[in-house]
Amino acid sequence: MTDLELSPETMRQLLRLATDRIVNHIESLPDQPASDVEGGAELARSMREPLPESGERFEALLEILFDRVIPKSFNTAGPGYLAYIPGGGLFHSAVADLIACSVNRYVGVFMAAPGLAQLEANVVRWFCEIVGYPAAAQGFLTTGGSLANFTAIVTARAERLPRDFMKGVLYASDQAHHSVRRASRLAGFPPENVRVVPTDARYRIQTSVLREEIARDRAAGWTPFLIVANGGTTNTGAVDDLSDLSDLARAEGLWLHVDAAYGGFFLLTEDGRRALAGLDRADSVTLDPHKGLFLPYGTGSLLVRDGAALKRTHAVQADYMPRLQEEAELVDFCEISPELSRDFRGLRVWLPIKMHGISAFRSALQEKLDLARLATSTLRTIAGIEILAEPQLSILAFRLVRPGLEGEALDELNRRLLERINARRRVFLTSTLLRGRFAIRICVLSFRTHRDRLEEGLEHIRAAASEL
Ligand SMILES: *Cc1c(COP(=O)(O)O)cnc(C)c1O
Repeated sequence: MTDLELSPETMRQLLRLATDRIVNHIESLPDQPASDVEGGAELARSMREPLPESGERFEALLEILFDRVIPKSFNTAGPGYLAYIPGGGLFHSAVADLIACSVNRYVGVFMAAPGLAQLEANVVRWFCEIVGYPAAAQGFLTTGGSLANFTAIVTARAERLPRDFMKGVLYASDQAHHSVRRASRLAGFPPENVRVVPTDARYRIQTSVLREEIARDRAAGWTPFLIVANGGTTNTGAVDDLSDLSDLARAEGLWLHVDAAYGGFFLLTEDGRRALAGLDRADSVTLDPHKGLFLPYGTGSLLVRDGAALKRTHAVQADYMPRLQEEAELVDFCEISPELSRDFRGLRVWLPIKMHGISAFRSALQEKLDLARLATSTLRTIAGIEILAEPQLSILAFRLVRPGLEGEALDELNRRLLERINARRRVFLTSTLLRGRFAIRICVLSFRTHRDRLEEGLEHIRAAASEL
């Protein structure tokens, strides 16, 4: 093929061939191993190739992808994926992306595609509604939580610190996601300007210690400006006391950012609303639709309570740009975010929500909370299992204990337990350290994970524990 413009027949043919492969793949997800990366480096090496001068048949390329390359991976889309933070990847979003890329309209500037820009603005507005933000709130879609946290820190810096901001101090708990430390560095703050605040027995920030640290820093000539709180930590799903923190932030004149990348969409459930009470009082919130709304990777968001702060932080003029909007309710995303040209992320959120309504997401999220509770109560019936973190949302952590065994020997026992569970390939779990102890995590968040697979995984944990 030399002409880059494909004929209508060829386009239809490509879609047909791809559709067959994709649908077969999705149908087989439950039967695929939960993880299979043995020999992955060899595969990667065998794939290196020089820039091709001429083309190949599409079918041959699909074969490489679906037969050789895709199977060697964590099955992140399958029902047994209880590792890290699952997403799932709603197929509707793939269709939305196909449409978005095919029409290739530009949504960074309102007047380039007013209806499509509005559609993305609607999605942001729905998120604000879920959080309970006022009409003045504003936000945008990012590629993920890391970039949302980064923009939150930059915006807080611009709003609360002078141009010379090297005396600025920000506070995050010892359970904060590592993207917060990276974002702080990228935003210009070296580690000396980032305070790590200890957490309590449930891994929630100790607000009283935080209050003391703020006072101590002020007395030492620092300028406290930002608290980054957790709306569901990655380690254990811990939710900080957001009401207390907003009181403290308000009293001290600090910006409160809540990293709810993992936990935020649980606001759609009653249990989640209770756990996350006070979130609506935060100055900014990170939400990751590619986690809590089960979308494909590449969709995060940042919401800011006083939306005008985003424009003050980001807007820059240029002579070659089209005319931008004056009216507050018409959004030029390029003026309130760090990006100019980018993909049309809104459609992949809009389509599944419009097709199902939010109620389908609400019940799927409630199911995840119930499954995490079921996992905890079942684990309690297994001899030797100790729960290290009960689920506050849909993550829990446990380990196997043995009388007389501690320290590195105990960690090693649990490492072997984890290997044995994962070797059965029906569920894929990962580990973390909690207060220095090796802990096995279960994170239930895929829309494809239901009771049957969870119970199967729990039986495998029981069997593996009895073999050790
Ligand atoms: C996943 C996660 C992040 C990072 O988000 P990405 O979308 O992976 O960039 C930040 N904070 C928390 C709490 C998370 O769970």
